[in-house]
Amino acid sequence: MKEVKPSKKPMAFYYGIVLLLILLFNSMAKPYMEQARIEQVDYGTFMNMTAEKQIGKVQIQENQILFTDKDNKAYKTGIMNDPQLVDRLHDSGAVFAQDIKETESPFMNFLLTWVLPIIIFLGIGQYMNRKLMERAGGGNSMMFGLGKSQAKIYVPSSEGIHFSDVAGEDEAKENLSEIVDYLHNPQKYSAIGASMPKGVLLVGPPGTGKTMLAKAVAGEANVPFFSIAGSEFVEMFVGMGASKVRDLFKQAKDKAPCIVFIDEIDAIGQKRHGNAMGNDEREQTLNQLLTEMDGFQGNTGVIILAATNRPDSLDAALLRPGRFDRRVPVELPDLKGREEILRVHAKKIKSAENVDFHTIARMAAGASGAELANIINEGALRAVRGGRLQVIQSDLEESVEVVIAGYQKKNAVLSDKEKRTVAYHEIGHALVAAKQTNSAPVQKITIIPRTSGALGYTMQVEKKDKYLLSKEELENKIATLTGGRAAEEVAFGQITTGASNDIEQATKLARAMITRYGMSEEFDMVAMETVTNQYLGGDTSLACSAETQRAIDAKVVKLVKKQHDIARTILEANKDALNRLADYLYEKETITGEEFMQLLESNGEIPKAVPEEEKVVDTAASKPFNLA
Ligand code: ADP
Ligand code: ZN
Repeated sequence: MKEVKPSKKPMAFYYGIVLLLILLFNSMAKPYMEQARIEQVDYGTFMNMTAEKQIGKVQIQENQILFTDKDNKAYKTGIMNDPQLVDRLHDSGAVFAQDIKETESPFMNFLLTWVLPIIIFLGIGQYMNRKLMERAGGGNSMMFGLGKSQAKIYVPSSEGIHFSDVAGEDEAKENLSEIVDYLHNPQKYSAIGASMPKGVLLVGPPGTGKTMLAKAVAGEANVPFFSIAGSEFVEMFVGMGASKVRDLFKQAKDKAPCIVFIDEIDAIGQKRHGNAMGNDEREQTLNQLLTEMDGFQGNTGVIILAATNRPDSLDAALLRPGRFDRRVPVELPDLKGREEILRVHAKKIKSAENVDFHTIARMAAGASGAELANIINEGALRAVRGGRLQVIQSDLEESVEVVIAGYQKKNAVLSDKEKRTVAYHEIGHALVAAKQTNSAPVQKITIIPRTSGALGYTMQVEKKDKYLLSKEELENKIATLTGGRAAEEVAFGQITTGASNDIEQATKLARAMITRYGMSEEFDMVAMETVTNQYLGGDTSLACSAETQRAIDAKVVKLVKKQHDIARTILEANKDALNRLADYLYEKETITGEEFMQLLESNGEIPKAVPEEEKVVDTAASKPFNLA
């Protein structure tokens, strides 16, 4: 895609600046230039000229003597200790003057004082112009961008992004294809009297392809694409943001039909609070945006797409009909979507033919499109590190884990006792999961420490996407989470800090069951908590009295405790298997779910050897989704 900068020149302003610079130049640089053009001669020449009565005017300064000949040509020479000089000069008929300058034709003078500086400054201006243009990606002109909107205009081209580049998100694409159709064929809509929504709000968690979708709409409709981030409107000075909004819409109207994309619109569109201490600048910017949106008619062909992951924080005025009245949810991809996204990005790399993207997609439950793109890239990097020419299955599996739990920490030195404890802990999780019905199957267990701080983890992978969880499944999850700690208790009669993350997750689940899912008898179907930040971590806020809070806390404790007891009972009953599996994991460090099940069912026989994973040291981490 090619980008050009808009070329709206505040001409008077520009000329004013050039004039100012020239005046400055004349007052400062010109005297030096003149000095430089006075011919320097030695003192002997000066003496000779004096003797020969050739001096016209003379001016004796502190450290030099300026003089002219009879033709008024200027010279200068240094000072000498020459007490009779003044007398000699007087005798020679020289005029003592104070204003010796090189004479020149008025034309030359004009050229030097006005034309030359203009040329110099224009040259500098042109040069800077070109530099800025190069940075902006080519094009033909631009001027000082004071208060101008930074919206980039993408000129449509064949390499633009299309809907086919955005995998999954079928509902969003379907929704947006109407806009594409409108841009192609507005008469069809105006004939019947329908007008397109002016604004469409793309709502969803980060990295789900909102920006991509907006670009794809422009690409499909083959219209210019302006994009600006909400935060770019927020300026230091009150009024600047509003003027940027005005500029943006002016440019957009000139280029209509076109798409204007405002990313992170919550930066300017936050709820206004009636108080006087509000953020003036942001409110003015928002007001300007509202005014502009009201100002243009439904059929100008400017369509505004905006993205946000905090829809609940937007000002109601933005959402009312005639503004951003259409909302397109862009959710985290489901299993099928994840597989498609992986395939789209895998086209950019060389991968082995037998790579099973379905499995990778299953492992990466909860990953966003951006994370999936990252998984593919990590896999490719790992293949290069391993000296392979193609990306193989294990590269991708490892990179899912890298994105989930961080890189392997090769040099973390655990004591033997610690390593054994981690092995028991992880087998505890897996065993509790396996011994309950309706638990997701175990995919992998590892006790190789990760940079995220996890000393090991058990990865459970659902066969399919789950949209509903039953009460039993939630309880099983809690039991599985407590299984790690329970194993430590059963095996060593001693507990460690290793269960902190499990505790956090179990508590969260138990709490949600009681306060949000109505899964306790006492509170029935009453919401005690509301989710405030759906797409960014899902923070909750309590909405109940202090007494109820106390009751909730007691219920949470009871619920977790019950599942913890169940987990302990399961492990006590399967102590042999626990010991056997933990020993095996201790030896191997990483085992697959199949090995685990085989060993569990085989009553002691060691399953046939599986090639050991190559271990690579890498860096950086992200959030865990499915670990226990
Ligand atoms: P958002 O604007 O929602 O935060 P982006 O559109 O910027 O997300 O997506 C970031 C990157 O993630 C994209 O450049 C793309 O590589 C990848 N991506 C996200 N969603 C998808 C998708 N549905 N299909 C293909 N790639 C995707
Ligand atoms: Zn654990």
